Amino acid sequence: MYIDIEKHADSRLVKPVARECCVYCGACVCVNPSPGVGFKDGELVFDEESIMFDKDLQVCPVINANHSTTYPKPPVTEGQTVDELLGPYLEICSTRSTDETVLKKAQIGGTVTSLLLQGMKDEVIDSALLVDKDKGWIGKPRLAATPQEILDFAGTKLSEASVLTCWRDAIKKGYKKLAIVGMPCVTIAEHLIDGSPDFSEFSDIHKLKIGIFCMEAFNYRGLFTEFLKDNQKIKPSNIQKIDVKGKMIIHEITVEDKIAVHTYSLKELHKYGLLGCLPCHDYAAEYADISIGSVGSDDGWNTTIVRTELGKKILDSAVASGILLKKRIKRPRTSKKSICT
Ligand SMILES: Cc1cc2nc3c(=O)[nH]c(=O)nc-3n(C[C@H](O)[C@H](O)[C@H](O)COP(=O)(O)OP(=O)(O)OC[C@H]3O[C@@H](n4cnc5c(N)ncnc54)[C@H](O)[C@@H]3O)c2cc1C
Ligand code: SF4
Ligand code: SF4
Repeated sequence: MYIDIEKHADSRLVKPVARECCVYCGACVCVNPSPGVGFKDGELVFDEESIMFDKDLQVCPVINANHSTTYPKPPVTEGQTVDELLGPYLEICSTRSTDETVLKKAQIGGTVTSLLLQGMKDEVIDSALLVDKDKGWIGKPRLAATPQEILDFAGTKLSEASVLTCWRDAIKKGYKKLAIVGMPCVTIAEHLIDGSPDFSEFSDIHKLKIGIFCMEAFNYRGLFTEFLKDNQKIKPSNIQKIDVKGKMIIHEITVEDKIAVHTYSLKELHKYGLLGCLPCHDYAAEYADISIGSVGSDDGWNTTIVRTELGKKILDSAVASGILLKKRIKRPRTSKKSICT
């Protein structure tokens, strides 16, 4: 799903497609500070006059003709091995935090949170683009600048999060070393912004790119309102945790203050997935310095793909300081089917 912006240099087609297929990375809103572009009630809103699509939508990972989520692969650098599905890497391992506070807040093994905390301690980063949520599980993009904020924003949020919208804030506030945590489409959008001469103010800031594995993101209204609240009678505000590992597992706090676990097949929920996710071929954030998921590792452990020297430096430092455990992974997954199930 991509359209040739050059050919359709007419916003009457481009804007509706962007709206319809938006995966909420937040890139176009980040590069266009105009108040006419933004998110309202979870929907992307373009004031027709305020977006110069040829400039701003060139950073869109879904509709950019040359850089849609289907292409291109990042260049392979020295020392990297290339896996057809997982992309180029230096090392693949399983990792898990040793800190109970982190494990309690984190989604799986707390690797992302641990790397961010270590990065701040080592002064490799001074801030991070993360995602918080409100009581109803609506994702909120956040700029974290302290270890406490990194901890506060741990955990996966499954719906539209538009994390890149806070990148401009980081620049405005004078941060120089930014970590960007995001799904593969976010790391592609980040790469597009970085490579564009039109947005050079964004490339001046040093970045650590932490990618998170992603099969599909969900439309908030579809998953949380239509399916969980109306159909399953599970109030979003009563959801304690949502795990996605081959299936979706919802932990609900009941009126008796107990935890009820509900499991749904991803096939059943596919209709609530974002349309723009359909053509996406990047499962493991190939443009990241380090990519984190859980598929392929033991329960409670993350699967960690180290791609660049910067990614290796931060992982080695977290392991050396004792905040992260690392162990060999049995075998990297090599087929799309095995990684999805
Ligand atoms: C939509 C989505 C789909 C996913 N699908 C898979 C999958 O199919 N297979 C798999 O193995 N893993 C998947 N993951 C990744 C997995 O859920 C964990 O995020 C990952 O394993 C990291 O675990 P952790 O314990 O290290 O995370 P934590 O230490 O809890 O850190 C997670 C970090 O990610 C940030 N974050 C949370 N939600 C978002 C978001 N929506 N956008 C950007 N940043 C966010 C948080 O702010 C936090 O800093 C998915 C994640 C998302 C958001
Ligand atoms: S996918 Fe990202 S860049 Fe494209 S329209 Fe949506 S928020 Fe904007
Ligand atoms: S599947 Fe995940 S990475 Fe791909 S476009 Fe959708 S949200 Fe982004």
